[in-house]
Amino acid sequence: MAARATDLLVSFIDALPDAPANDLDGALEIARAYREPAPSSGHRIEAVLARVSAAAEKGFNTAGPGYLAYIPGGGLFAAALADYLSLGLNRYVGVWNAAPALAQIEATVIRWLCDLFDYPAEARGILTSGGSMANFSAIVAARRALLPEDFLAGTIYGSGQLHASVSKAAVLAGFPPRNVRAVPVTPDLRIDVGALERMIAEDRAAGLRPFLLAANAGSTNTGAVDPLGACADAAAREALWLHVDGAYGGFFQLTDRGRRAFAGIDRADSITLDPHKGMFLPYGTGCLLVRDGRRLREAHQVAAAYLQDLAPEDEIPNFADSSPELSRDFRGLRVWLPVMLHGLDAFRAALDEKLDLTRLLYEALAATPGFELPWEPQMTVVAFRYRPREGDPEAFNRALLDRINESRRVFLSSTMIDDRFVLRACIVSHRTHRERIEEAIEIIRSAAAELDRTA
Ligand SMILES: *Cc1c(COP(=O)(O)O)cnc(C)c1O
Repeated sequence: MAARATDLLVSFIDALPDAPANDLDGALEIARAYREPAPSSGHRIEAVLARVSAAAEKGFNTAGPGYLAYIPGGGLFAAALADYLSLGLNRYVGVWNAAPALAQIEATVIRWLCDLFDYPAEARGILTSGGSMANFSAIVAARRALLPEDFLAGTIYGSGQLHASVSKAAVLAGFPPRNVRAVPVTPDLRIDVGALERMIAEDRAAGLRPFLLAANAGSTNTGAVDPLGACADAAAREALWLHVDGAYGGFFQLTDRGRRAFAGIDRADSITLDPHKGMFLPYGTGCLLVRDGRRLREAHQVAAAYLQDLAPEDEIPNFADSSPELSRDFRGLRVWLPVMLHGLDAFRAALDEKLDLTRLLYEALAATPGFELPWEPQMTVVAFRYRPREGDPEAFNRALLDRINESRRVFLSSTMIDDRFVLRACIVSHRTHRERIEEAIEIIRSAAAELDRTA
């Protein structure tokens, strides 16, 4: 069975470069064929795998080199091997003494990530299912550390460029949506720290309790990086918890350019990372680091009589005490195995390559008449629009996105900035290399030229 599943994966991955970047033709019809009752008796593996393979064929090709929409995922094969092993071994790592050395593997992964951000020995972290859950635990940790039990006066600050998961996390943590403040940004889409200070002063005067500043280390829209040093200064002056959302950009800390852009990140109280973005892992691996690990544990730990036989945290942490989850998969191996196999330098080089490819795309479009690129890339997102000779620019740019995506060689997405429609290409898959970006440049240029001619 394992050999057949491996055959399926190998042919799927081998076909990725030539597979369409998106393909939804007839996809709903195919999906409907999977609405069926559970069988009373089992089928042969070949038949079942054929259905998995057919189901995987349609959709956005998130694992392929042409996928530049949203935040690409990638999916290192070594991580699939790690999951195969960990699900097969099925050891429990939520409390350390159930599998001390395996729990240590996960703790070691957390330590590697803490070291990347120069976090002290008392820092702790958890691997989550993604950045959304990491942001959620960060807000809960900050709330429990800084606010009384009756916390509804607590207010949260972040630029209008924050990821929606921060607002969602605030609501899930019990705050009304109005307690999340959208601070204005400077023209480069970084938080305006002066405006932040004024909002905080007004809120305090109105009897509210500012407690959390969430800053971007690479926004999803354009890769904007908030001035983290100035944010840390403001947070210190105002006694706020500084949370940095590095779900998309955080791993660029491995590169010299990223480290410069993130100066001051080591002063954050907590950092969200998504190994399933910047470490090219498959979906399902996020991470939260907390500089004072005690605060993470105090926010999540609850006693239970039926767990009384388990050892308390010792030199190896009990992850269940620092996380909303008790039972879960062994995510540590999914990070550890690829790093052990490839080495950190391979990740660093791949991220440097993405930064270079971003310059290439940005400069090529900026040099093409008609294209507007109002924001120089700070990470690996190129945001652009085209100024048509005539007609409604928004309708034109929507049509441009469709035409680019019809190529099926690249797949881009769009967003709104300052109420204007912009296209964006995000380059962060380990499978995206120079040839595909050169092809993307040609596709984007000729789609715009053709549309502008027929307008
Ligand atoms: C992707 C992303 C998130 C959400 O992470 P998930 O892993 O999708 O839950 C949060 N913040 C930023 C900046 C992101 O790019």
